[in-house]
Amino acid sequence: MAENSTPRIVHLVDQRTRRMPTPAAALEPATRMLASGHLQDRLHRPLHDLRISVTDRCNFRCSYCMPKEVFDKDYVYLPQSDLLSFEEISRIATQFVAHGVEKIRLTGGEPLLRKNLEVLVAQLAALRTPQGKPLDLTLTTNGALLARKAACLRAAGLQRVTVSLDGLDDAVFKRMNDVDFPVSDVLQGIAAAQAAGLGPIKVNMVVKRGTNDHEILPMARHFQGSGVVLRFIEYMDVGATNGWRMDDVLPSSAVVARIQAAMPLVALQAAQAGETAQRWGYAGANGQHDPRLGEIGVISSVTQAFCGDCSRARLSTEGQLYLCLFASQGYDLRSLVRAGADDADLASAIAHIWRGREDRYSALRAALPPDQGAGTSAQRVEMSYIGG
Ligand code: SAM
Ligand code: SF4
Ligand code: SF4
Repeated sequence: MAENSTPRIVHLVDQRTRRMPTPAAALEPATRMLASGHLQDRLHRPLHDLRISVTDRCNFRCSYCMPKEVFDKDYVYLPQSDLLSFEEISRIATQFVAHGVEKIRLTGGEPLLRKNLEVLVAQLAALRTPQGKPLDLTLTTNGALLARKAACLRAAGLQRVTVSLDGLDDAVFKRMNDVDFPVSDVLQGIAAAQAAGLGPIKVNMVVKRGTNDHEILPMARHFQGSGVVLRFIEYMDVGATNGWRMDDVLPSSAVVARIQAAMPLVALQAAQAGETAQRWGYAGANGQHDPRLGEIGVISSVTQAFCGDCSRARLSTEGQLYLCLFASQGYDLRSLVRAGADDADLASAIAHIWRGREDRYSALRAALPPDQGAGTSAQRVEMSYIGG
């Protein structure tokens, strides 16, 4: 396999020490900014999505995310006291919602490893937007514990789940998760989530050329007409440990072409602004999209940047606010909360930080000089730390 034949460059930098103090101006009454339900960054992008990482631990060792060579038995994870408590997460999330966030995704690491996660889900499910609407509350999981937890998460108010699955062939999948975890258990998790009403379910497949790209068609066939939306993600140069190379990326255009050759597709409109996936529907005999056959999505983070309407903020496990998946520094909201900031202080800090945002890494990637461009990533935070 190509994956094993090329040396992997592994940078051992612990990004968790890179913090930015929350801007002092955010705490000064003269410049205090109240939540108005609408917040725009410097590039006029609204704040709509919040991804919250609830743990930096995982029971998988996917080579593209937490390679075993780095995340081994000596790796030091965050101590419990460094993690935001559920109450702290809810307090911070409440202020994000006041600023216009309508969608919250819980992630990690593996979020289902966080004890009593349903308690947090219930707290977040009780939040309402300034217009009085409930949030779009969802979670991304590797599915290993989903069969056990789907019903109680649904009962707590979780609406949907996204499950990651990189192939249907056991040998391929086990090599990618690197902990010998079988496909059948993930499929059981997906079935349990469907039975619990956690739909529409999305399945994310990271495509690595030469490693699992031969699984594209089997995966498409398996999920066609199942009610599950399969999404193909381009392998990204996120973090500093996965030894990313452009050669390993199979562009989404090639993914679509391969499926198209066997199962006709028609392009669909984006369901909402800021959507990361381009949608393609399976065509029926008349050449039109047949909703019974369902749809796929492709997420072209590398070949077609979607920074222009990126409305996502990320809250790390220990309360650092990141403005981009590829950021090298976060803003320390936990210190603010633990120093006794009230809700207005918190709202003001979030407003100042978002209004100063200029991040658009993917859009700039191609134009970056070689020493900062793709493949030289020693400064970036890990995906398992800030959440995908
Ligand atoms: N553990 C959970 C899971 O795997 O679904 C949630 C966290 S994981 C970091 C979130 C998503 O990021 C997963 O769908 C995973 O496949 C994706 N991901 C991780 N590393 C990636 C990379 N280098 N390129 C593209 N997607 C990646
Ligand atoms: Fe764990 Fe998810 Fe990363 Fe895989 S992608 S190592 S399951 S956090
Ligand atoms: Fe958003 Fe950063 Fe990704 Fe661009 S690179 S889409 S700004 S997270």
